[in-house]
Amino acid sequence: MQTKILLNDNQIPKRWYNVIPDMPGQMAPVIHPKTGKPAAPEDLSAIFPMALIEQEVSRERWIDIPEDVLKAYQLWRPSPLYRAHRLEAALKTPAKIYYKNEGVSPAGSHKPNTAIPQAWYNKQAGIRRLASETGAGQWGCSLALAASFFGLEVTVYMVRVSCGQKPYRKSLMEVWGAKVIPSPSSLTAVGRQILEQTPDTPGSLGIAISEAVEDAASHKDTNYALGSVLNHVCLHQSVIGLEAMEQLRMVGDYPDVVFGACGGGSNFAGIAFPFVRDKVNGKDIRLVGVEPASCPTLTKGVYAFDYGDTAKLTPVTKMYTLGHDFVPPGIHAGGLRYHGQSALVSQLYHEGIIEAIAYPQNACFEAALLFARTEGIVPAPESSHAVRAAVDEAIKAREEGHERTILFCLSGHGHFDMSAYDAYLAGQLEDYEYPAESIRESLANLPRVEL
Ligand SMILES: *Cc1c(COP(=O)(O)O)cnc(C)c1O
Repeated sequence: MQTKILLNDNQIPKRWYNVIPDMPGQMAPVIHPKTGKPAAPEDLSAIFPMALIEQEVSRERWIDIPEDVLKAYQLWRPSPLYRAHRLEAALKTPAKIYYKNEGVSPAGSHKPNTAIPQAWYNKQAGIRRLASETGAGQWGCSLALAASFFGLEVTVYMVRVSCGQKPYRKSLMEVWGAKVIPSPSSLTAVGRQILEQTPDTPGSLGIAISEAVEDAASHKDTNYALGSVLNHVCLHQSVIGLEAMEQLRMVGDYPDVVFGACGGGSNFAGIAFPFVRDKVNGKDIRLVGVEPASCPTLTKGVYAFDYGDTAKLTPVTKMYTLGHDFVPPGIHAGGLRYHGQSALVSQLYHEGIIEAIAYPQNACFEAALLFARTEGIVPAPESSHAVRAAVDEAIKAREEGHERTILFCLSGHGHFDMSAYDAYLAGQLEDYEYPAESIRESLANLPRVEL
């Protein structure tokens, strides 16, 4: 029986898949944060290259992948699809479990799939430097890697508390040539203001985004890059699902259900969107995003217009949100801490085309350990959400006595997250109840948008 299902170098998809033309409904407009009116493409040109802005609003179903990007992808793509025979045996399930291993990229996650094209398009546009933010460090590493390929400088604003908790992610970024600044910093007006008010702040992703956007907007040779949420990021990640479809076809299979961990939505979009096309054309398939119970954007948020960051510098988009002020409980170790969600994932969820479930972190680490001890790979804490969902589906198949085919995205490995595993093994991870009160408070501050 086949364990690794591999494609050749020349079978990397030549085009990205854009889900927008296959969505039943119209996209809501993106709103300018200052004027409250729909934003024009030029409004974004201070921080993004035009090629990416065009992809953001494109209605073309297929978009060619540039030759230089394909060459860089070839370092680790096509990524392997695995049949999880050993996990299936441990679960005594009649279900077939497949996982797409995105942890084989040099940075250890799916994020270089978009970092590479983002760096390339910026280079083509004559940009010299990129500014971005990172929390746990996965995105900062991926962007540093991509920028080193194309000769760009990178400044990464890293959430201050994460610099202490994830020192080796900082080292990795520096190995790839990035400049890492603990955020909040004195380099930006936003950072200086926050440091003055709260000198001891641990920082947050919202603050770091605001600093990076300010940096990019105030330097002509510098652009901003975001690692999730945006339409062009979901577009670039479609290589995951396109490859997986082809790999399953090679072994004569097709999934009944697809799972992906949901933070900003990009790896879930990557594995699931190519199947949306089949689903809207009548195929019987379930597409399920899996989120943490402590940051339950799809399952407990509202579908409304909201800002992407704390300082309200980013455009306002219609999405599932917990409110731009929402900060998940501090001890949550499982990642996926963003308050919002990709507009595309949100709309598909709203239209009932995709589903969502939420898990507390201990259940995810339990499944991650079972996975590590059967399949060998230590999942990133984020990826463990998808592992949990796949394991539960396989257990259900056993209990119901039904075969089924499960596909999930293993979005990354957890080699830089061992302190979270230490905490789990020591019994020190707490499960948080749905933080109803803080979500209620935060949702009271949603912007009013009149169209
Ligand atoms: C960043 C990250 C995620 C969450 O981001 P999405 O945009 O929702 O995919 C999931 N897994 C890993 C390994 C990550 O680094």
